[in-house]
Amino acid sequence: MLNRESKDFYNQEFKELVREVDSLKEKPTLFLHACCGPCLTYPLSILVDHFKVTVGYFNPNIQPYSEYLKRLDTLKQFIEAYSKYRGMEIPLVINEDDFEKYNKLFADRIKDREGGPTCLRCHAYRMGLAYEYAADHNYDYFTTVMTVSCKKPSRELNEIAEKLALKYPSTKYLYSDFKKENGQYKGILIAKEYGLYRQDYCGCLPSLKEREEYKKKKALEEESKAQSENSLTIIG
Ligand code: SF4
Repeated sequence: MLNRESKDFYNQEFKELVREVDSLKEKPTLFLHACCGPCLTYPLSILVDHFKVTVGYFNPNIQPYSEYLKRLDTLKQFIEAYSKYRGMEIPLVINEDDFEKYNKLFADRIKDREGGPTCLRCHAYRMGLAYEYAADHNYDYFTTVMTVSCKKPSRELNEIAEKLALKYPSTKYLYSDFKKENGQYKGILIAKEYGLYRQDYCGCLPSLKEREEYKKKKALEEESKAQSENSLTIIG
């Protein structure tokens, strides 16, 4: 058995569980929390071979509302096209997300950085909503696509889900580390193939603000670089 401290632990646990599942007569059901279409691509492409997958969009962090809908439309676009390609039905459940409640709970994100403790709470909150739904609707397994992103820590995500699994023992947690084996890159290729919209910020309003500030800073740097190159040309 692989050491828990190994960087490949969650990926190996995933493979072990999939081997077990493949020996069953029937595919078990899996509720798959998805934050957006591009992150869904690669995990879905491997999971449908082993599970009857239902995708869940539980993401009150994604704001403004126009962006929430844009990411949801992209998710639907991919699920529709991919279901047709694989000749299977892949249901989608959309949560009635409470943005006001989310914003109250995560008001301190403003003081935190992306990837900091508030982000872990944010992941736990959304996974909690989705796990609860999965357990209430008798799914055999639950997992999230979020481990595919290099910006999201797989170990912490798996540890969050392990705790949730104790709360909802009737639905098992499927360990994952989808970023292993070039998962994120493979996902980007699929997203390009399907012409999916790819956002450039995480989701909440502070993360949008940080992204805009970063873009402004980059633009100013480019401008001053171009100005100094021009003055060098004139002098030369
Ligand atoms: S940056 Fe992303 S993970 Fe962090 S709080 Fe905002 S939406 Fe949640």
